[in-house]
Amino acid sequence: MQSSRRQFIVLAASIASSAVFLGKAQAASAVVESDPTAQALGYKADASQVDHAKFTKYQTGQACANCQLFQGKAGDAAGPCPIFAGKEVSAKGWCSAYVKKA
Ligand code: SF4
Repeated sequence: MQSSRRQFIVLAASIASSAVFLGKAQAASAVVESDPTAQALGYKADASQVDHAKFTKYQTGQACANCQLFQGKAGDAAGPCPIFAGKEVSAKGWCSAYVKKA
């Protein structure tokens, strides 16, 4: 009895974690800064963390949200960017491919 109850709990926990995993898999995942492309372009999820010495073109106020390539809607916390296909960048992020929105 005790054992079958334990098995039920383990099974229920594994179903719950699978559901969480599937839920995340359906949404685009966020670009991680350790991603090779992100590192090459100096992407930071928080533009204030950009390495100013290495990426001298960065200017305060620049962020994915006001970049030409950002495909999220105004006010979105994150959105797709063609530089990182299939993933989402933070609206407050920045990378060296930044192009000011016209
Ligand atoms: S290209 Fe623009 S939207 Fe894409 S990560 Fe770089 S700054 Fe953000």
